[in-house]
Amino acid sequence: MPDSPPIRPGMVIGILGGGQLGRMLAVAAAEMGFACHIYCPDQKSPAFAVAAARTIAPYDDEAALAAFAGSVDIVTFEFENIPLATLRSLAEKVPVLPDPRSLEATQDRLVEKQLIAGLGIGVSAFAQVASQSDIYSALARTGRPALLKTRRLGYDGKGQTLIRTGDDPVGAWRSIGEVPAVLEAFVPFEREISVVLARGRDRTMRAYDVAENVHVDGILATSTVPASVPAALADEAIAIAGRIAEALEHVGVLAVEMFVSTDNRKRLLVNEIAPRVHNSGHWTTDGCLCSQFEQHIRAIAGWPLGGAERHDDVVMENLIGDAVAEWPALAAEPGARLHLYGKTETRPGRKMGHVNRISPAGDT
Ligand code: AMP
Repeated sequence: MPDSPPIRPGMVIGILGGGQLGRMLAVAAAEMGFACHIYCPDQKSPAFAVAAARTIAPYDDEAALAAFAGSVDIVTFEFENIPLATLRSLAEKVPVLPDPRSLEATQDRLVEKQLIAGLGIGVSAFAQVASQSDIYSALARTGRPALLKTRRLGYDGKGQTLIRTGDDPVGAWRSIGEVPAVLEAFVPFEREISVVLARGRDRTMRAYDVAENVHVDGILATSTVPASVPAALADEAIAIAGRIAEALEHVGVLAVEMFVSTDNRKRLLVNEIAPRVHNSGHWTTDGCLCSQFEQHIRAIAGWPLGGAERHDDVVMENLIGDAVAEWPALAAEPGARLHLYGKTETRPGRKMGHVNRISPAGDT
């Protein structure tokens, strides 16, 4: 696939998933002269409003997938909970980038941690929990506090529970639904950071500046660039993300979330890999020449990667749930750029939009 001809303007990019990431990818693709076809089971998908074509069908609908494959020139995805079988079935008919292997390695938290550890990259102590009886041996490995997380389908802190000293481990196992899980040591961290990078079909890589992230209730609240970390640590974080992207032979944007732990011997511990554009890269739209969305489209299309240098400092704030009601004040705020996702229903914990607050680089 990386050797096939570039995708030319006028061709159609198929995107699996219709959330805000798909919406922002479709806008970037349109600006480059492509048309996007969004495939998503949810008929209220925010990406539909900005796409040239849509398919509303379940991810296992073979007939709908075949028709979709026949109408696009390349397929990509905007979130990692797409069934692997869907991607594999499409890949038999049409180029799919990133390769389904990137999804396979990251949609299961256990496989993901094994990959990271196998590369000799720091990760918190972890153990598999396949049945109730595993939980005690897993706790012996991680100590307490520890987080019990479902292996699959977790996001924004969902599908996970903390086990503290005195907590009943079996109760924790029940609370996540007694599904295959991974237990991981709770990391005492100084801060959280992430690296968003792109890897092209020609294997070149461009990383954006490291972002410093604050999560509230497991959901990203803000990303700040530049991050307040020493340059050497930022370089190390970028090198780690690069090694992961190369190991996966990833093509497209990839994000790696890390803890800066308070333990000086193992400062950087990887929390999660996302084989796609990422919320902690939303600042790039207003802080860089080429946003993460355009960069992803360039990478998968076989175009040269764009400039990832930061021209401004940015604080990105997510508008979660009712916070979106502040839009009139945000629209009037100098130096703030408002991005709304067009979601009709506001729910607690739902990402409704974000705002990028810009200041000249070096002023903050
Ligand atoms: P996740 O859904 O796994 O990315 O977790 C969401 C957020 O929960 C992370 O960004 C952290 O703020 C927190 N968290 C997750 N795992 C750990 C851990 N092992 N130690 C400390 N905090 C964690």
